[in-house]
Formats: sequence, C-alpha cells, structure tokens
Amino acid sequence: MTLDSLPPLRESLAQHGLLAKKSFGQHFLLDLNVTRKIARLAGPFEGRAVIEVGPGPGGLTRALLESDASKVIAVEKDPRFLPLLAELTEATNGKLVVVEADALEVDETALLSEHAGGAAGHLVSNLPYNVGTPLLLKWLTGPWRPRALTLMFQKEVADRVAAHASDDAYGRLAVISQAICEARVVMDLPARAFTPPPKVASAVVHLTPLPVRPSDADLKALERVTAAAFGQRRKMLRSSLKGLGGDALCEKAGIEPTARAEEIDVAGFLRLARAL
Ligand code: SAM
Repeated sequence: MTLDSLPPLRESLAQHGLLAKKSFGQHFLLDLNVTRKIARLAGPFEGRAVIEVGPGPGGLTRALLESDASKVIAVEKDPRFLPLLAELTEATNGKLVVVEADALEVDETALLSEHAGGAAGHLVSNLPYNVGTPLLLKWLTGPWRPRALTLMFQKEVADRVAAHASDDAYGRLAVISQAICEARVVMDLPARAFTPPPKVASAVVHLTPLPVRPSDADLKALERVTAAAFGQRRKMLRSSLKGLGGDALCEKAGIEPTARAEEIDVAGFLRLARAL
C-alpha cells in the first residue's frame, strides 16, 4: 500500500469506528488541501525529522509524510488511533513512527535520538486546545531546542503568542515567546474547517528561535517580572513592580517607571529581567 492508495480520512475514521472525544480536545482536519498548506508553511524540513503532537486520524500526518522530512515521529495520547496510524506507517515504509504517550511528559531529545539519529527536529501540531499553552511553554523553555514550531491554536491564543506591545492581546505569553522566538500568525482557519467544529476560530503560529537565546536565569527573571507587571497591567510599573524594586529597578533598566506593562516591548522586559 502507498500513501496515495489510502482511503480518504473520513472513510478511515468510519472503517475504524472512530468518533472525536471532547476530553482529548479532538477537532480533526480532514481536508488534505488544508493540511498540505500547513505542512508547507512549517517547512522546508530539508531532511530533518518532524515531531507531530496529536496526529489523531492522521490528516496533518499524511501531509507531513509527503514532505521533505526524513522521519515523522507522531506522539498520540489516545490509543484508539493507533491501528489507523499503523496503516500510515505501513504505507510509507516506516517514515512514520507512532509513539503512544502524553506530549507533556515525553523527552523529545530521546525520541529524536532513538528514531531519527539526532536531536535536530521541527515540531508541528494541530494542538489539543486544553493543553496548547503548557505544551508551548514546555517547548520554549524546556531542554530540547526545536528548529521551528508550527502550531495550530485557538485564534485568541495565537494572537496572544504573536502580539506586539500596545496590542490588546499583548501579555506574558507574547513576551516569553518572543524573547526566545520570532512568532508570526501565518494562517487563519474558521471553526467549520474542523470535524467536529470547535466553538471558536483557529490560527497557525510559526515560531523560529532567535539567533541569541536569553540565559535560563534571565528567562526565570523574565517570568517574575512579566507576572508582576501584567498581573496589574493597568498600574504604572513603579507600583506593579514594587515588590521587585519598583522605581530603582525601572531606572536600572532604562524604563520609564510611569509606563504600564502593555507599553513595554520585549527588549524592555528583557532589560528589566537582567536588572533584577
Ligand atoms: N492532528 C489531527 C488533525 O489535525 O486532524 C488531530 C488534532 S486534535 C485537535 C488533537 C489531537 O491531540 C487528538 O488526536 C488528541 O487525541 C491528541 N492529544 C490530546 N492531548 C494530548 C497529549 N497530552 N499528548 C498527545 N496527544 C494528545
């Protein structure tokens, strides 16, 4: 069997008697034109491996298997999909490896070394919405360094990742994400693109690591500063950052103490973190 000779996704789901489970955040992309577009936006992979979280019925997986990735390592928590995904492994002569696991718990470096012979890899996922943010934070701040991340979120979360200073959606998630990566919304998708449709629209964010990464100590300090500053986002920094040094901290970082959190760009927050 080859990838081309596989039945359409709807048929595969019906053959295996599979229905979406709400508790696993399951909303499927069954249109290969859409999943191919996401795979194109995520690439090129130039022969590197891709980790896909939550393959489900495998629509995005099929598109990734057609790409220039050397290997697709798919991490799925719901065992009901394993027989269906095994057909994909067979159709692609082992280019796909499926691992039954919780993506929050897996060691990506170990997965890549075991299945792709090295740690270089990309992350692509139509994320389960209930764990999207914790997974993003794990990939940004954990020990594994992905080459790039291409992630489908609820639109509101995608906007919070890619927002700039003074945008309504600007907050902790934007500052932490953009201290480490360049983040762009590259595609919007209406709820009706999914089966079953979720309540809200979705968007794909592409994140590429910046050439210089803040140290772990700076990132820890950044978490403290952004938690305090955005915890009271309407207050002046001299007051929201009082517990961390207030006026003196702002002056050391070259930041106006009368400014509010939403006015400070990522570079400004990094100066505050380093001054802490
Ligand atoms: N990639 C498929 C698609 O685009 O049609 C499915 C996307 S669906 C939004 C999310 C998938 O993530 C489901 O298959 C779900 O079972 C899986 N999932 C949920 N929580 C997970 C976790 N903690 N670790 C791994 N997979 C998870």
